[in-house]
Order: sequence, then C-alpha cells, then structure tokens
Amino acid sequence: MKVLVIGSGGREHSIVWKIAQSPLVSKIYCAPGNPGISELAECINISAEQTALLCEFAVKEKIDLTVVGPEAPLVEGIVDFFSKYELKVFGPDKKAAILEDSKVFSKCLLKKHNIPTADFQCFDDYQQARRYLSSKEAPIVVKADGLSKGKGVFVCKTNDEALQAIDSIMKDKVFGNAGNQVVIEECLRGEEVSLLAFTDGRNIVAMESSQDHKTVFDGDKGPNTGGMGAYSPVPIMTDELYLRIERDILVPTVHAMNREGRPYKGVIYIGLMITASGPMVLEFNVRFGDPEAQVILSRMKSDIIPIMLATITGELDKVDLDWYSQASVCVVMASGGYPGSYESGKQIIGLDLLKDQKDISVFHAGTKSEGGDIITNGGRVLNVVACGDGIEDAQRKVYEAVSKISFGGAHYRRDIANKAIT
Ligand code: ATP
Repeated sequence: MKVLVIGSGGREHSIVWKIAQSPLVSKIYCAPGNPGISELAECINISAEQTALLCEFAVKEKIDLTVVGPEAPLVEGIVDFFSKYELKVFGPDKKAAILEDSKVFSKCLLKKHNIPTADFQCFDDYQQARRYLSSKEAPIVVKADGLSKGKGVFVCKTNDEALQAIDSIMKDKVFGNAGNQVVIEECLRGEEVSLLAFTDGRNIVAMESSQDHKTVFDGDKGPNTGGMGAYSPVPIMTDELYLRIERDILVPTVHAMNREGRPYKGVIYIGLMITASGPMVLEFNVRFGDPEAQVILSRMKSDIIPIMLATITGELDKVDLDWYSQASVCVVMASGGYPGSYESGKQIIGLDLLKDQKDISVFHAGTKSEGGDIITNGGRVLNVVACGDGIEDAQRKVYEAVSKISFGGAHYRRDIANKAIT
C-alpha cells in the first residue's frame, strides 16, 4: 500500500513512525514533512493547504490512503475534495469537521443533546457580549468561535480581563473572522484529560488517555502554547471514569453528529475537565492532538492501518485495538522565547546519540536540514518521547534523553508528568 501523510509537525512524524511499522505499507509520502520524517518517508514539497496539488499528487501516485494531520485542511474540506476522485482519506469531511471549526456549533450540540459541558452563552454582538459579562462573576472563560491556533481561549481571573478578551476578539479582530462570534462560559475546576477515539460514525473505539501541558512554564504557569509535553496513561482515568465518559460523552456525541446529518469518521479528540460533579467537555478536535499523538501512538500495539481503513469503510467493529502496558512521556524542546517571538537557525546537537535507543523516539517538529546539519526552524522544535515501566520510569528516561540534546536558547518544562506521579 502507498500512504500519504499531510503535515509537518511532531504529530505527523509520530503518525509516519507508526504507519512505517505496518507490514501492509510499502511506501510512505509526507507533504511537506520535515527532516525527521524524511528518514521514514519521501517528503513532497506541497504544503498542507494546497488541496488541489495534494489531490493531483495522490491521483498520479495512486495513493491508497491519505492521512491528514492538522485541522485546517479538514475544516477546508480536503476529505470531500479527495473523495470526488475516489481517494481514501482518514478524517472527517467538512460537514463533520465543524465540530472543531465552530465552538458555537459544538457548544450548542452539547446542550441540545444533554452532554455535560460548562454553562455558556454565545454572542455575535459586541455590546451584548459586554453587557452579559457585567452580569457575571469572574473567573470566566471567553472563546473565539473559530480556529485560532490555540490562542483563542481566554481563562479570565477578572471581569476586566474578560472585557479585554472580548475587545480583542470582536473589536480588534485579532483572529479575523474566527472572532465574529464568542462563547462566554463558566470556568470549570478540576483535572484536564484528553480522550481520543476512532470512529466510523457507527462504531466507536476509545484510545488510551493522555494529558497535555499547555502552558509554557513549570507549575502550569505562563502563556498557553501548542503543548509543551504530554503523558499517557492518566492515573485519574479509572475504568469507572472511562466508562462514564464513553457512556455520557463519547457515544452521545458521535450519535448526535449522525442525528444532525453530519456523520463523523476518523479520530475524535475530546478535551475534558474532570470536575467534582463529573467529566465535562472543554473542547473537540477533529484530529490527533499534538503532542498527545506522540505519547498515544508510542503505546499503540495494533497496526494502525487496518483501523484507519475501517473508519472509512464502516468496519471498525472488525478490527482490534491493543496497547502496550508501558507508560509514555513526551517533552517538547522549544526555541528560546517561544510562544512569543524566537530565533530560528540554531544548530541541534546530540540527535545521533539517541538514534536507535530502546524506548526513546525523537519526533521532529520545527527543524530544517542545512548543509548536513539539522537546525531549528520553528517554536516547538523537537518532541522527545520515552516509554517505561510506569510513568516515573518513562519520565526518568525522557529527561535523560533530553539532556543529551542541545541547541542555542533551547527551553523545555522540567515537570512533565509530575501530576501523574504526585
Ligand atoms: P483554539 O480554539 O484557539 O485553537 P483550543 O482549542 O486549544 O484553542 P481549548 O482547548 O478549548 O482551546 O481551551 C484551551 C484551554 O483553556 C483548555 O485546555 C483549558 O485549560 C482552558 N479552558 C477552556 N475552557 C475552560 C473552562 N470552561 N473552564 C476552565 N478552563 C477552560
């Protein structure tokens, strides 16, 4: 089989790494890919947004399966486009990808189908949004409706902060049209967990749990980032909690999408807050999380290809999904200054020391090849992942591996997975 993976980050490197283990696959292409991916796949110089060119390539090369990493092409309708040419694509179509594209849509869906989430109100009018806020007490959460690259959510400690958030979203339009509407919602307290599942629209198979670390500094301090690390499994996810989330959230959401005439296929990502009154939905994503994919796929025992194909053909009930019992921890190494402005072009030293090391993977994100060297080329540069006998062992191994890599200005969190240990 020939497989095309779309994207260029650490998530896509881990997807390519997992696909490369399948005996069913003879050739992997990645568009556009990165230097790490190029060791496993042929990288094609087409960006993830160039749908027509990607489709032309897939037709010409007779690609048997295309896997879309990031959300933007899914929201733009890449699955619909490829399907016209009878190409198989793993992921939801445009109608279903609205689950991530519009927070107003997803919150209304949750409310209509009685799926637990924070209380909320939606506004398309700036003055009304401000008036509503004055009747509410902080802390409160303000969200831009559309895709905002992880920056569209403001957890506000004071009403003033919330008013500023509304100003920047609706008046200053810092997220463009993604800020035409806002969701203002109750601030939930608890532990955050991500649960991802494969679905063919009828059958649903949940994956192992994981937890992301969104803020830049240790102790969950500083501004939000694309994700500074993750671990799996999450100890608070007992069997009982797992079943409750499946019963009260996962299954009803997939069925709700069917009832709305938006059947959902691919991977569904549910961001949850485990509150004192039970699990509640924070957000949906319509693709693997980054860096959650890196820890989850490191633990997946089954061949991922039959599972991905089954989500397309509607035969997910015929495939098995098995896991390694080992835990995994991912630490993101970022450029100095990230998530603010940062410099690129720093030489990365030490990658060779971690090649072919048991239980260690280094997934590239913002890297570039130049004159035989690997240099930094983005905010999040590398994702170092270790598997171990339990979280503590995986954490020890991952930080030992991280200590072998260096580049100018490199920074990373030193407390990834501490929550799972303490
Ligand atoms: P974007 O839409 O900009 O891509 P995102 O999808 O990453 O952002 P969310 O995951 O919905 O945004 O929210 C980001 C973070 O904000 C969450 O991981 C959580 O920590 C916090 N958050 C979101 N909603 C709430 C809430 N109701 N109560 C408390 N914290 C929240």
